[in-house]
Amino acid sequence: MPRRPAAALATSGEVLCLIRTGEAVTRADIGRVTGLSRPAVSLRVTELLDRGLIVEDSEGPSTGGRPPTRLVFNASGGVVLVASLGASRAQIAVCDLAGHELARTSLDVDVEEGPDVVLPLVMDTWDDLLGDRPTSPVRGVGLGVPATVEFAAGRTESARIMASWTGVAVPPIIAERFPVPIFLDNDVNVIAIGEHRAVYAGEADDLLFIKVSTRIGSGIIAGGEILRGALGAAGEIGHIPVRDGGGVLCRCGNIDCVDSVASGTAILRDLRARGRDVKTLDDMVSLVRAGDAETMSVVRDAARMLGEVVASAVNLLNPAVVVLGGDVAETFQPMVSGVREVVHRRSTALSTRNLRIERSRLGPGAGIVGCAHMVLDHILSPEAVDAFPRSG
Ligand SMILES: [Zn+2]
Repeated sequence: MPRRPAAALATSGEVLCLIRTGEAVTRADIGRVTGLSRPAVSLRVTELLDRGLIVEDSEGPSTGGRPPTRLVFNASGGVVLVASLGASRAQIAVCDLAGHELARTSLDVDVEEGPDVVLPLVMDTWDDLLGDRPTSPVRGVGLGVPATVEFAAGRTESARIMASWTGVAVPPIIAERFPVPIFLDNDVNVIAIGEHRAVYAGEADDLLFIKVSTRIGSGIIAGGEILRGALGAAGEIGHIPVRDGGGVLCRCGNIDCVDSVASGTAILRDLRARGRDVKTLDDMVSLVRAGDAETMSVVRDAARMLGEVVASAVNLLNPAVVVLGGDVAETFQPMVSGVREVVHRRSTALSTRNLRIERSRLGPGAGIVGCAHMVLDHILSPEAVDAFPRSG
């Protein structure tokens, strides 16, 4: 293997990356992979050990003679605090530095009450969950909120359901109690990240996640990374119009957005217009499970309209898998058959050749997993590790 030129000498952050991925787990490996001299490797390893980011594993295989000391990423060298907020429920957790849940709880919260009420409640819950681990340093915070988020600024924008959140910069509020790196994203984006990391990573790194619930939203994973767009508004699939929607006014002011004709809200409205007594999405799901023909037909019509928009997205993005999640995805059969029918008719042959359309496998925990990875990807990146002030 050619040695790297001196200009590309690996930093401590890059060495950590090699250890985390298992690419190089002994000092000799690191020297071989990076071309660093023995003293240079030793300097970087010592720094990572001092900072508690790695530990030495003496449990090496004993085959006579002294095995080289293995270096292991220290997943318990700190914790991240995460919360995935929905309209009426929040999943709140403490995770280790590998993204595994150490403690989780869910909470009934009305996000409409606004950040002044909701954020202190979330932070109190983190404190409760942290109760048993006061010694684990908090390394970062991640939140998913049901609003469009200007990612770099951590600021909510044109809130999807809650006006009281419009234009709120969340990180400064959290930083008063947890002065660590804080990341905020749209709820569907964090669910897409969670679904990808936990189920599809390395196997399907181009994934379109569509949440069909009270509203329709999507998260796009392209080449293994979430696609946020210039400011964070990518994935707003709900406000793409469909043909022949019937002239329904969407809450965004346009006509026949797929959200206004195919969301759970729209399906309930259509069923009620036919004189059916359905109050909640659960009622609708029960009717589908019971094989009610009229409900199945309304769901399938909604799915065909959703399919039109998904077909365009498939042409544009060529995902390996489209994952349907959210409450309406509980009616997976009529939903997926409607979507599949239109996608295979309307998308290009190459984009659908190996396309899978699947149901979300992670359920309510997806947002938590996604939030944890969103934070860890940032705080453990070589750039972030190298920017950390050297302690004496
Ligand atoms: Zn709209």
